[in-house]
Amino acid sequence: MEPRFAPPAADRATDAPDVGTFDADVAVIGLGAVGSSAAWRLAARGHDVLGFEQFEPGHAWGGSTGATRLFRVACLEHPGLTPIARRARDLWRELEASSGQTLFHETGGLMIGPPDSRIIEGTLRAAEAHDLPVEQLSAEEIARRFPGHARLNPGDIGVWDPEAGILRPEAAIVAAVDAARASGARILTNTRVTAFEPDGEGVTVRTADAVYRVRRVAVTSGPWIARFLPDLPVTPHRVVMTWFRAREGREADLDTLPVFIRSVPGRDTWIWGHGAMPAADGAAGFDAKVGPEFDGPFDADDPDAIDRVVHAGETDGISDLVAAAFPDLDPEPSGVTTCIMTHTPDGQFTVGPTADERIVVGGGCSGHSFKHASALGELVAQSIAGEPQFSDAAFMDPRRFAS
Ligand SMILES: Cc1cc2nc3c(=O)[nH]c(=O)nc-3n(C[C@H](O)[C@H](O)[C@H](O)COP(=O)(O)OP(=O)(O)OC[C@H]3O[C@@H](n4cnc5c(N)ncnc54)[C@H](O)[C@@H]3O)c2cc1C
Repeated sequence: MEPRFAPPAADRATDAPDVGTFDADVAVIGLGAVGSSAAWRLAARGHDVLGFEQFEPGHAWGGSTGATRLFRVACLEHPGLTPIARRARDLWRELEASSGQTLFHETGGLMIGPPDSRIIEGTLRAAEAHDLPVEQLSAEEIARRFPGHARLNPGDIGVWDPEAGILRPEAAIVAAVDAARASGARILTNTRVTAFEPDGEGVTVRTADAVYRVRRVAVTSGPWIARFLPDLPVTPHRVVMTWFRAREGREADLDTLPVFIRSVPGRDTWIWGHGAMPAADGAAGFDAKVGPEFDGPFDADDPDAIDRVVHAGETDGISDLVAAAFPDLDPEPSGVTTCIMTHTPDGQFTVGPTADERIVVGGGCSGHSFKHASALGELVAQSIAGEPQFSDAAFMDPRRFAS
């Protein structure tokens, strides 16, 4: 088949690299959370970008659906995530300016657990490493300031992260794709990449009805990454998201129930979520959201064959945890949907070049990457551009699994 595009000309930025006989400098495969920002950050640098998305940007079938995502700066998963979260917030703010929408609501967030729990130790480790302005609260102070959090474990403490908040994932992805287009990227929606093959000096990228030659490829296909890179240990897994309403006469808004991660009394697990927000300024509102800790091992689900029906009994476990932790919430879900999480063995992302440096990955969400996604897109772009990384991302190096 013939390449669909002639060598790009007039629509390219004047400082764009010379793509010669290539159709584009870079193909970005998958324009979800990470890929939309990778396309934007590459195009903003003057790279000639071809972005492929198998559905419409902001769709409901990958890892980024569900109206909200928690943002935290004191990242309990790894202290190296703090500068990435802060860079991501700057980029989300840039997208707010370009799109004219509120994508990030800074509400503050509360982590609650025993002092020696992973929640508290991990949060404090990140706070200490970066001198973050967090505040430690006793169980009594938590009950007084945040009455939505009742029934704490005896001895639980809280860590307040004032920079935490809530992101709007679908709108953020659409805004990043629009920003990529505005910087000159060519975006093909409803176009699935079926294969790519490195050869000679570049990479051949195939869709059902066309073939493209590019110099480099960014694989940002989220739950579908293993389709292209079967040696990368990324496991897509179906999960159910649940929303809850306050009981009659009770409150469950963001003042009483700000962004949280907390242990549950008498249970060896944690839950995460946030309170409700009414619709305002043209943006949709949402009920309180509560989800369980996702702790492996995880079955690999086929992302093309996810059961989108939430069956009777599937939400009993989370309802039980809600009843145990939040007396003001009706434990019967007010809303449910399915989503796909993509796990790695160590719970850290996979961002950076593969053994073949023409192929750069951005994914391996492990349930906590949306907040960082704009900055992960920046890291992908820096990797492709051969620039130094703005922050040490060695702990996300996809090649760590090879050894
Ligand atoms: C239930 C749940 C709760 C979460 N909560 C949080 C949270 O509170 N905070 C947080 O920071 N993170 C959270 N996460 C994680 C976060 O939402 C995901 O990590 C992130 O959205 C995944 O982004 P991604 O770019 O890797 O994948 P996606 O956003 O799924 O993007 C991949 C894209 O690639 C496209 N694609 C795939 N294959 C092809 C192909 N062959 N050709 C063209 N396009 C293709 C897909 O259609 C998709 O659009 C949560 C995840 C889940 C599932």
